Amino acid sequence: MHCLDCFLVGDDRPAVGVCTSCGAAVCRDCVRIGRHPITHVTGFSSADRSVTETRQLACPSCATALSVRHSREYGFAPPAGSAVEMQ
Ligand SMILES: [Zn+2]
Ligand SMILES: [Zn+2]
Repeated sequence: MHCLDCFLVGDDRPAVGVCTSCGAAVCRDCVRIGRHPITHVTGFSSADRSVTETRQLACPSCATALSVRHSREYGFAPPAGSAVEMQ
């Protein structure tokens, strides 16, 4: 499989992963690696919850979209020069 973004500009680069948002294959230069928190609920009180983090792979456009409102949750860096409000 080849990287979709690179393929669209005429470059055949081997994919190293798949964007979990749009499903596009991404090469080592295009892949963005964020985190994906998984909440485990074993009961009904807040003490019965725990969170572990897994990886989330994204293509550049999805990483940019996820960073706009979810940069803290997913850990994708917001695009340079963008005015992203931190809450
Ligand atoms: Zn994507
Ligand atoms: Zn690429």
